[in-house]
Amino acid sequence: MVKSHEGRLPSLQTDRELVLGLIEACHEAIVIHADDLCELDRAIGDGDHGTNMRRGCEAVYLDRERLGSLPLPQAIETIGMTLVMSVGGASGPLYGTLLIEIGRRLGTRDEADFATILGEAIDAVARRGRALAGDKTLLDVLYPVQTEMARQSALINIAKRAEVSARLTAEMKAMRGRASFLGDRSIGHVDPGASSCALLTTAICRYLREYRPA
Ligand code: ADP
Ligand code: MG
Repeated sequence: MVKSHEGRLPSLQTDRELVLGLIEACHEAIVIHADDLCELDRAIGDGDHGTNMRRGCEAVYLDRERLGSLPLPQAIETIGMTLVMSVGGASGPLYGTLLIEIGRRLGTRDEADFATILGEAIDAVARRGRALAGDKTLLDVLYPVQTEMARQSALINIAKRAEVSARLTAEMKAMRGRASFLGDRSIGHVDPGASSCALLTTAICRYLREYRPA
């Protein structure tokens, strides 16, 4: 049975309620903030990040009954593949890679240390995007989140770190993706991918804090 503990992930077992709850929480966060994400992307990209993410989350949401019937690792991997196919833009393959790599690793390790798995999955995203920490991308939220998880920080602190990290991307110069075409003019704007990543992290942490298995 999955249990909710402050500062820890639930034990990673098949749990329809958990999969459905996480899908709904992420879908809601992106739908509510899609316009804000587009606005951030209008400043340093092409204005479609919220639309892209909403399209991906809607595709996952529509498939939630099937996803809820899968073991958790397979559900995560399948969500990743859906995001690759539906999000479009640079962010689709990157979020997709993250979830595919997490799902595959969760499925093949008995003693799943989620922070280590997340770290390896983030490294795969970095390789895929040829990006590094500090390049003003979603990696600048993912790496700090992984650090907090490795420290077994409370969920509320993981969420806070994600939000602060997204805001800090405003100080960075974009080195990857469309925003990099702006060079120094990208400084002063929050990265849209970092922002969506913080929104999703916060939604997941909030859901896990409130989660009480039946
Ligand atoms: P596109 O840039 O193709 O319009 P989106 O607007 O959906 O795609 O996503 C833009 C976000 O994707 C950026 O804000 C950034 O966080 C992320 N991103 C773009 N290129 C890369 C990359 N090479 N590596 C990591 N993240 C990237
Ligand atoms: Mg864009």
